[in-house]
Amino acid sequence: ELTKNVLAEANKIKSSNAINKLIDEKAINFAKEVETNSNINSLLYGIPYFAKDNFATKDIETTSSSNILKGYIPPFNATSISKLEKQGAILVGKAALDELGMGGVGLYSCNGIITNPADDKRIVGGSSSGSAYLVAKGIVPFATGSDTGDSIRKPASFNNIVGFKPSYGAISRYGLLPYSPSLDTVGFFTRNVTDMAIVCDATFGYDTKDATSHENNSKNMFEKIEGLSKAVKFGYIKKVIDDLNEDVKNAYYNLFETLKLNGFEVKEVEFKQELLDSLSAIYKMISFSESVSTNANLDGIKFGRRATGADYVEIITNSRTEGFGEEVKQRFLVGALNLNKENQTIYLNKAKQVRRLIVEELNKVFKEIDILIIPPTDKIAPLIEETKIKSTPEKEYLSDILTLANFNGSPSITIPFLKEGKLGIGININAKPKEDLLCLQAAKMLE
Ligand code: GLN
Repeated sequence: ELTKNVLAEANKIKSSNAINKLIDEKAINFAKEVETNSNINSLLYGIPYFAKDNFATKDIETTSSSNILKGYIPPFNATSISKLEKQGAILVGKAALDELGMGGVGLYSCNGIITNPADDKRIVGGSSSGSAYLVAKGIVPFATGSDTGDSIRKPASFNNIVGFKPSYGAISRYGLLPYSPSLDTVGFFTRNVTDMAIVCDATFGYDTKDATSHENNSKNMFEKIEGLSKAVKFGYIKKVIDDLNEDVKNAYYNLFETLKLNGFEVKEVEFKQELLDSLSAIYKMISFSESVSTNANLDGIKFGRRATGADYVEIITNSRTEGFGEEVKQRFLVGALNLNKENQTIYLNKAKQVRRLIVEELNKVFKEIDILIIPPTDKIAPLIEETKIKSTPEKEYLSDILTLANFNGSPSITIPFLKEGKLGIGININAKPKEDLLCLQAAKMLE
């Protein structure tokens, strides 16, 4: 019944472009199967959810919101999807995204733009646009997302919901269509932090199919979610907070005062300005380059929709020209330039060295404090018109502070913070890599 209701509600919002595919019949059949299976003892039993459409789902079309993958039906499930299935969670459909995960706006899905559910003149954010939309709209209690730079945590902020990028490798990436594998992380959107602990408990763990996955000590987080120790030290980068506009800045300083009054230590930490200034460039250099190599298989011959052509070079050229959108093509172009042999030494290797410096700076920060507080966005979701004008590639990446946690693999969660009518601005909480439980406990306390 619950699955039927969710499908009915989801059908009503089809014109939002947030949904790439609803799997009505399959979902109902699976729900019936789960209902008769008394062996499942899980909090996720019978709970409907959406998967971002870059998660491979067995026998269900998986397009990553790209024309080139239209009609691709994977013969396997992503590990995270299998794990949710084992717990009795019901997949009801695939959520739209900025094509192949490339973008932060919700304007780049091949099926059309997705707007903010609270105000259709504003962006929903991305790249996990459909997932954020569907949770914010109340269609499902959770949805999967992926985060390479900020794709879960920024839309969470724009939509007043909870968005968590766990530690790199906490959840297997097997079956997540790659954008930039050294940064890509599987995560979720939920309505509250406790629900987040539940979905993480179900999906965390080492997977033989993903060599970068690990066994995380953060287990049974649902039971331990309230247990934040008073000894935990909070910290913030003064320059980052001081650069916010007055109201938001004051809200942050008020929060720090409240934390102190509650007996927590709150420290100002140093972070080299030139490293903060480099975040956007380093992110682009690394992610665009990796995206070229990970998507090289989408050529219309090995994978992807095949265009016509006189020979294989023409087939590949036409397939890729027709199959990819403008944003993706621009990123491939820059990435391919970086992968040219000479440019690798001049640009890409340098970028990796700077990434290392950023990670070392973060290591220093986490020697002084346990939790780093960051503003995921400095204002409510921007207007679509403004974004369209400004979103020539340079400008769109201006606020790339959340990529810090992708560079070092820290767990990083955005929760609602300031309300502005139906819109809002979130707050972002980070801990050392593998300290996922601590990150969630701090979020629970601040919620
Ligand atoms: N907004 C970033 C970008 O445009 C992040 C994308 C992501 O995390 N997948 O690439």
